[in-house]
Parts: sequence; structure tokens; C-alpha cells
Amino acid sequence: MKTHADAAEAFIKDEARTDWHDETLWFVREKRDIAAHGIPEWEKLREWASQIKNHTLSNLNHYLSTFEENAQANGIKVHWAANAAEHNQIIHQIIQDNKVTKIVKSKSMLTEECHLNEHLIKHGIEIIDTDLGERIVQLRKEPPSHIVLPAIHLKKQDVSETFHEFLDTEKGNNDPQYLTEAARQHLRDYFVASELAITGVNFAVAETGGFVVCTNEGNADMGAHTADIHIACMGIEKIIPNAEHLGVFLRLLTRSATGQPITTYSSHYHRPRPGQQMHIVIVDNGRTRQLGRPDFRNSLKCIRCAACFNTCPVYRRSGGHSYHTAVAGPIGSILSPNLDMKANADLPFASTLCGSCTNVCPVKIDIHEQLWKWRQVIVAEGYVPTGKKMGMLGMNFVLSNPTVYALSGKVGRWAMKTLPMMVNNKFNPWFKQREMPEAPAESFEDWYKKHRK
Ligand code: SF4
Repeated sequence: MKTHADAAEAFIKDEARTDWHDETLWFVREKRDIAAHGIPEWEKLREWASQIKNHTLSNLNHYLSTFEENAQANGIKVHWAANAAEHNQIIHQIIQDNKVTKIVKSKSMLTEECHLNEHLIKHGIEIIDTDLGERIVQLRKEPPSHIVLPAIHLKKQDVSETFHEFLDTEKGNNDPQYLTEAARQHLRDYFVASELAITGVNFAVAETGGFVVCTNEGNADMGAHTADIHIACMGIEKIIPNAEHLGVFLRLLTRSATGQPITTYSSHYHRPRPGQQMHIVIVDNGRTRQLGRPDFRNSLKCIRCAACFNTCPVYRRSGGHSYHTAVAGPIGSILSPNLDMKANADLPFASTLCGSCTNVCPVKIDIHEQLWKWRQVIVAEGYVPTGKKMGMLGMNFVLSNPTVYALSGKVGRWAMKTLPMMVNNKFNPWFKQREMPEAPAESFEDWYKKHRK
């Protein structure tokens, strides 16, 4: 598997596409700013959301068991999965028990995290993603690159080529309306024929035993309303205590995600309709381990709005696939080392630690501080490459010895002036993408001594 830096290097080779990706996501960030500034109580809402999540995480067992009790009283079958394998097995079993072959799925990052599609396909079961962006990447056999905008790395020309290949649309027709209509007709056949629909869960309400699914396309509703079996998949952190709390989160979610005042469809499910089966699979998959890490507990407050992605200068210029994990971006870089520290040891370093992610997060997660803390854990656990480890030990020695620091500054300035090749060479990763600065005539310390009054 490529590291983030290696995959990002491949992504930025296409400079025009990188600029376009950067500008497109920044445009979404600006829409978020306008929406947030339109609400005078925005900061209060963020604080409330953070506190509600804090309280819920501190009483998770209580709220999850209350939810289970109420959901079961409503006629929903509740399943518990300790990990991704159990989650996939439960869904597979429901499919087998009911002998269904036609399955549609709306966007669910949890099913991406658990690799549900791969599991079912391995067992000969076809599953169709119905979110437009997800369907595009599914046809291309790619993972989503963004949790809200799964195909944001693709231009309309790419989509046109994909649809021409798989849906037989006119070659070279890049008209978004034409392409969307083609996707609509293509998906409609699957919706009408579907026997089982899988959805994610944005919020599960302990008080009512119901849950809410938010989409802009209405595809979750179409699937759940036409199929005789509805399976909803949720991580344990999706629980909130009461229905009144939804008002706080629904106001924050889409404003933070796309700058819309409200998601187009916020659908509330409480019980199966007559003759329908409704299942909910509640998944841990490392979440209780993260809950037990005081420095990273707050990451479980995440409502997956992706505002931290859209503002992150590293995400915008390296693309979602560089993160090699289901949830990319700043929050993915905090969640993924908990799932597999060795495989994801590079991700907390894929950040400038500028703090912009923390500033926009609607539930006030201290994202950049957690990235910094993960770096410390990863170094202590020995998961950094030897070169980096030696480099950091060297820096530690230089920076903690004033005489050595002053001497190395002198040597560095001399080398930059007289032997620039020592710095400007292909072994220096900074030189690859940047012009190195002119060597200063003197150190700051020398300048300061001269000018101090
Ligand atoms: S960490 Fe915050 S900003 Fe990022 S996706 Fe989660 S809720 Fe949104």
C-alpha cells in the first residue's frame, strides 16, 4: 500500500486537476461559511451539539440499551456487531435467510469501513449503490474519495466516459442534466425490482427507538420504501438521547456539509410498515477502544459532515484516495490509526496542523490537537520509518543544544551559498516542489544582538 505522501505525489502530477479539486472544495467551504454566518446562534449550536455528544458518550451503554428496547417495541429487529466481520456476516445471513438477490444500498460510510460490498460480491451477491456519486465510483471500481461528495475527484468528462462505457450514453456528451437523467433511468430499474434495501443512519434516537437518514437525492427513501426488507447500519456513536436534540444536529449538519439550510430529505424511520422487515445493525468495530483513549474520545462526536475535508489544505491538494482509508481527510486521520495503527501510521502526519479543521467542526472536535497527539503515540509505538525516526532524534539533539544549533545554522547558510547542490537535490523532498529560499546573510540571533537597543 502506498503511503499518503506517495499517493499524493501521484495525484498532484496533474497540476490542472489538483487546482480544480482545490478550488471546488474551497467553493463548498465558502458556502458553509455563508450558511453558518446566516445563523446568529451558530456558536451556541456548536457548543450544544458538542455537549450533547459528550453527555451521550459518557452514558453510551444506557442510551444504546434504551434505544434497543424502544426499537424492539416498535417491531425493529436489533443486531449487535463487535467488528466489521460480524457486521458483514449479519447482513449476509439476513440476505440468505430471505433468499433475496436484488439489493440496493444508499450511502453509508460504515459499510465502506466494513467493506460490505466486497464481502457480498465475494459470495456472489450483487449490490447496487444508489447515491449518484457512489454509483459512479462503483462502476469505475474505485472507493469514494469524500464522505459527502464521493466522486468529487472526477470531472463531468470522466463521468461521461464512465456512463458511455457502462450505461451506453452518447459518447462525448458531458451535459450534467443528460448524464443525471441517464443515471436516474438506470437506477430506477434497480429500485423497482429491489427486494432488500440497506441504508446508513445519521442519528438514532434512544427515546423513540427511531432513526434518521439524511440524503439529498431521496435514494435511501426510494430503496427503503420499495423493498420488503430494510437493513439500517449504524456505529454505536450515532445515538442521541432525545428527539428534541435532532433540531440541533440537523441545523448543523448540512450547513457544515454543503452550505444548504437543511438536507433535502431527512427521513425518520420508526417501525416497519405492515409486511415489511426492518433490521438495525449496531456496530462497534473499534469505537469502544477509541472511547477508552482519553485523548481521542472526542473523535466519536463526529457527524460526518466533511467540513474538515473541504477546509483542509492537504486534503484539497492531495485528494481523498491518498488517504487509503474509508474515511479520508482530517477526521479519517484520527479514526484510522485506532482501527490499524501500523497501516495508518502515515495519516496523522498528512496535516499542516493549521487548525482550520477544528475551527469549522460543528461538534467542536479538537481535530488538529488529536492529529498531533497521534503523532506522539505512533512515534512511541515505533511505527515511523527509520529515516524519519533518526531525523527526529537528530533534530532533537540540535534544537536542545544552543551551541550545536548556532553552529549548524552557520554550516547551513554556508552550504546554501557556496554548495547549493547540497540542498537543491532530488534527495531533498522540499526541493522537489519548491524553490529553495536565498540563504540569509546572518542568523536571527546575530541580527537581534546588533539591533537590540
Ligand atoms: S470531524 Fe467535525 S468537521 Fe470533520 S466530518 Fe466530523 S463533524 Fe464534520
